[in-house]
Amino acid sequence: MSCLELPRPLAVQPTAGAADMNEAAAMQPRPANPVPADARNGGRVKAHEVAPQGVYRPNDNVLTPFMRSPEYVQMSTAAAITLGVMQGYMHRTSCTRCLNLLLTYPEGCRANCAYCGLARHREAERDYADRNFIRVDWPAVPYDEVLAIMARGGDGGRFHRMCISMITHPRSDADTRVVLERWVATAPHVPVSILSNPTTMTRADVQELHDLGADIFTVALDAATPEIFDRTRGRGVQSPHSWDKYWEILQAAAEIFGPEKFGAHLIVGMGESERDVLTQVQALRDLGGHSHMFAFFPEKGSLMDHLPAVPRPQWRRVQLARYLIDYRDHRIERMRFDEAGRLIDYGIPESELDRIIKAGTAFRTSGCPGKEAHDVSACDRPYGDSPPRDIASYPFAPQGRDIARIRTQLGRRQPGPS
Ligand code: SF4
Repeated sequence: MSCLELPRPLAVQPTAGAADMNEAAAMQPRPANPVPADARNGGRVKAHEVAPQGVYRPNDNVLTPFMRSPEYVQMSTAAAITLGVMQGYMHRTSCTRCLNLLLTYPEGCRANCAYCGLARHREAERDYADRNFIRVDWPAVPYDEVLAIMARGGDGGRFHRMCISMITHPRSDADTRVVLERWVATAPHVPVSILSNPTTMTRADVQELHDLGADIFTVALDAATPEIFDRTRGRGVQSPHSWDKYWEILQAAAEIFGPEKFGAHLIVGMGESERDVLTQVQALRDLGGHSHMFAFFPEKGSLMDHLPAVPRPQWRRVQLARYLIDYRDHRIERMRFDEAGRLIDYGIPESELDRIIKAGTAFRTSGCPGKEAHDVSACDRPYGDSPPRDIASYPFAPQGRDIARIRTQLGRRQPGPS
């Protein structure tokens, strides 16, 4: 088993190469199982009232400890390995460049997004601190311990960025401010991104995070159209989010943080067309921001765990087109799509397109930048949207054999010997 491969069978194996696009009609969330009364709102965890002790690894303990931010934060498995609070190895990479933190509460996230492993309906089967998220476990660590390691340079300079993921909880706005302030006071050399929760925020909250020292502000729009948004994270799944509110906070971020300092997450393969998602990419670029792309993957335990991962041809086309828009001053108006919204022409000369494919940067994980280059994300999320055997977002620079595979997935001929 490769590193960061969850030791649980998938409900459905990814269908890379089996289809060209995930069609809208097929990408419907399943109904949620009812949540027993004693499990609602973190009831089982709070009933135990066990004091947390040190680092908590998901599924380690019989009694889940009572942990909450800002004293505790969860972090990705890759971040925990890089920080040195967990042992492990990562397939073809030695570390992550972003310390992804997640606020944590026994009640968990109060939203119910259909593709997400942290969603509220999972109270029926797993306590919050034990839930998988973007394919990996998230150990909980005392924040004092995180800051102490950073204060003594214990990360060896490997982190280029820290990110606070807010989740949907009544305490998350206030606790994000505490986590941010303490970080800026301890490790000001590592800039902070905010992965916001627009549903509970106002423009004044965005301004306050900026004034407290946040460097980049992001919004997890995730869905590429208002209809898919409503179906997967709004009324369709009894979740509190709305497309308009997300865009309201995104607009505020564009004005307050300014060009190159805000962005939005988009998931590819939830039933939108390639034209739909690239329309959002262009809209974000026109505002001055960047899009951060995720390949849809059927997260175990989510309401979309029975659905196919985004087919690699669709994913690669969108990755490449997004890179052209975000970093090569290209525009969607110069691209051509078929009747189904599938990208059929990138609108740039073949030789130039080939050079960009060969360079490989377009196929790396996208997100907030680190120190390597303006178009290379610090947030490399190793294997957050695919298993290592079939990489969607490369957490490292793809090599020759990777590029050959990408060309095949794009339906392009391999170059002949020069
Ligand atoms: S708000 Fe974020 S963390 Fe909460 S269920 Fe939705 S996607 Fe998951």
